[in-house]
Amino acid sequence: MAVPFRRTSKTAKRKRRTHFKLEIPGMVACPNCGEMKLAHRVCKECGTYKGKDVVNK
Ligand SMILES: [Zn+2]
Repeated sequence: MAVPFRRTSKTAKRKRRTHFKLEIPGMVACPNCGEMKLAHRVCKECGTYKGKDVVNK
């Protein structure tokens, strides 16, 4: 079985962990209601996209 040749340095460990993030990416605040929503998708709170009501016509 392969075994690590040398101990991972503090810097290498920290650089790897810069990709460990707490929040979900691609979330933006809706310009209409201010709710957090997925970018480039219709807001599920108020049903708008690009400032227009696209769900409740
Ligand atoms: Zn909204």
